[in-house]
Amino acid sequence: MSAISWSETSKDGDARTGVMSTPHGDVTTPNFMAVGTRATVKTVDTEDLDRIGAQIVLANTYHLMLRPGEDVVAGLGELHGFMAWDKPILTDSGGYQVLSLDPKVTEDSLIFRSTYDGSLVELTPERAVAVQEALGADIAMVLDVPVALPASRDVAESAMHHTLRWAERSRAAKTRADRGLFGIVQGGADPGLRAYSARETADLGFPGFGIGGLAIGETPNERVKAIEPAVAELDRSAVRYVMGLGDTEGILDAVALGIDLFDCVLPTRLARHGKALTRDGDISIKRAEWTSDPRPIDGDCPCVACRRYSRGYLRHLNRTGELLGQRLLTLHNLTYTYRLMADIRSTIADGSFDAFRTDLHARRDRAAE
Ligand SMILES: [Zn+2]
Repeated sequence: MSAISWSETSKDGDARTGVMSTPHGDVTTPNFMAVGTRATVKTVDTEDLDRIGAQIVLANTYHLMLRPGEDVVAGLGELHGFMAWDKPILTDSGGYQVLSLDPKVTEDSLIFRSTYDGSLVELTPERAVAVQEALGADIAMVLDVPVALPASRDVAESAMHHTLRWAERSRAAKTRADRGLFGIVQGGADPGLRAYSARETADLGFPGFGIGGLAIGETPNERVKAIEPAVAELDRSAVRYVMGLGDTEGILDAVALGIDLFDCVLPTRLARHGKALTRDGDISIKRAEWTSDPRPIDGDCPCVACRRYSRGYLRHLNRTGELLGQRLLTLHNLTYTYRLMADIRSTIADGSFDAFRTDLHARRDRAAE
């Protein structure tokens, strides 16, 4: 029995709901993971996350192995003890940093310059697993080699084979039976490469799969063509996770293809930049028209920002650089995202997901006009 398992509770077309079991409890899917890069979701604490409905969070291997170091985290009760979160945690392997930090990629490893002190840091597939096991993540990810899009077929194919070889090494390096490890499907924007990558990665026997290298500027149609052939190759009982995707339209479209799990910095990052998510599109809280506006961001939202404060007050906090403004918008944007996921789950369960998705797309298109 794997440390991670998934079972279906309902389906509507290809969209599906289910329960993912982990060593720290169950997650109802489809679901969204807030990004806690350095073992903190910026401006909110784990009691906040619990209150607003977070079921699982993501933390980042690359950052935590550098600061404070995985041994320090292990000594303070692993990530769950360290950040005082007793629910599931997934750690990202460091592969995504290929896109953001431009490391040297060799057959054996990634070689980075530390963003903290400039020293050289080597990350092998084995080390990425060892660090994630020391951190105690319920779900670790294999080290992968994503490619920036657009990429030539040769570049995408080479990175996909590289990722496959690393997936095999990662699986061989796994020592903790009480923790899970997910494979990662690559293949750029090429449907054939995506199908091949999914089939070969699935053959290695993971309980779940990240679909990586997406949400980096491809068109919605290119994304569908990368996700669909991959999903077709995966066992129905495996967890399907599109890495880095978190905008409303993107989530709706991926759920329609049968995706279960998402993560993204978007809700929290936009909040720190003064943007509030709503069903009718983003609202910039900076706009002059809100100066004396007594209304909340969203009258239907149960978050503390919407229950207690006006747009005028939130704008004032933003304009004066008050930290509370970032915190309140973060709580709002995460509440928005968790409610979106809850509505997705309930509409799949009652067979109305397609209508929900079509209505929400239309509503957002209208608001954008
Ligand atoms: Zn709100």
